[in-house]
Amino acid sequence: MKILVINAGSSSLKYQLIQMETEEVLAKGTCERIGIDGGKLTHKANGKTFVIERELPSHTDAISLVLEELVDREAGVIASMDEIDAVGHRVVASGETFTKTTLVTDETMALLEPLSELAPLHNPAAILGINACRAVMPGKKMAMVFDTSFHATMPEYAYQYAIDYDDYKAYQVRKYGFHGTSHKFVSGAAAEYLGRKPEELKIVTCHLGNGSSISAVDGGKCIDTSMGFTPLAGVPMGTRSGDIDVAALEFLCKKKNMTFSEGMNYLNKKCGMLGVSGVSSDFRDLTAAAEKGNRRAELALEMFAYSCKKYVGAYMAALGGLDVLVFTAGVGENTPSVRAGITSGLEAFGVKLDKKKNEFRNDGSIHDISAKDSKVKILVIPTNEELVIARETAALV
Ligand code: ADP
Repeated sequence: MKILVINAGSSSLKYQLIQMETEEVLAKGTCERIGIDGGKLTHKANGKTFVIERELPSHTDAISLVLEELVDREAGVIASMDEIDAVGHRVVASGETFTKTTLVTDETMALLEPLSELAPLHNPAAILGINACRAVMPGKKMAMVFDTSFHATMPEYAYQYAIDYDDYKAYQVRKYGFHGTSHKFVSGAAAEYLGRKPEELKIVTCHLGNGSSISAVDGGKCIDTSMGFTPLAGVPMGTRSGDIDVAALEFLCKKKNMTFSEGMNYLNKKCGMLGVSGVSSDFRDLTAAAEKGNRRAELALEMFAYSCKKYVGAYMAALGGLDVLVFTAGVGENTPSVRAGITSGLEAFGVKLDKKKNEFRNDGSIHDISAKDSKVKILVIPTNEELVIARETAALV
């Protein structure tokens, strides 16, 4: 079975064609600058990279070009579109409408539409991607796979905000969480790596990238996560503040003469590592600057590690113990100093890092970086959100 995975952004579209029996990626690529001039497709297949520059006025044009490449004599990996058994679409927000991977139909699309309000930067793009695929591949089975659905198992006392209950009911304002496909993948992979059943394990997963979130997974089910109603909540991130007293936003809006929505833009795009350091949102730049003695870059990194450590501690309490601590995503997989900062001081709770093992060179495989006498296994697991989307889609269709 071959599954095409589509991750559509407002002006970009990423794809992978996966052979499910072997879970091999047959082809993958990215369309950029959709709807703006200078459209471009970068397509990787058959050990080569193909770059095509062509105007892409709409997502439908982008999908058409992707399909052209997939069946192309040189760049292609299939003889015709019929070889694609189904398409899996990444969708960010499910609200309370969907709790699991769902077939794309006229009815489910009508239910998806109003959820754009919950993720105005992401859901409309996913809808464009789905509609484009339906136009270009009529009749093809398709699934929507939600970033939020892994978190649908959180108990009410964990996802509920302490606001008027009637307002929660009327507007579904609550914690949803994000990066669910990644937390699902790495928690499952951790159990598999250790040769244990997911049901037996208490796991904390740290997805640390440009956006970061931490989840508590009990027996394979998510019971809490650090992001909230939107991805702004939780630990500080590349450009997001993370948790902040909302009264501070009101105060800043008054002082800086910002409207509320300008204030939200400020917290999402100008704060976090970038705001504190004044250097960059990128952890490579931050660690380089800190090593050269830049105090603000060092402070940003200290704040990040401290905040992550507090979530790990809180989730150990929520889980009633911990068997495995997992690091994943750009920063989690590649930055030993961040992993060391987060785990330092947790030795009393059975989390003990092996400093030498922590310095491994990332080769895309799983690494156990726990000390021999660590009660808790500390693993670095490369995430694979596309594979989760493909697996979920295959299982559904
Ligand atoms: P996104 O949230 O955009 O998917 P990623 O998971 O790719 O982000 O993470 C981006 C962050 O990961 C950046 O801050 C970057 O510094 C860091 N990062 C990514 N790759 C590497 C690498 N090879 N070495 C060090 N840091 C990396």
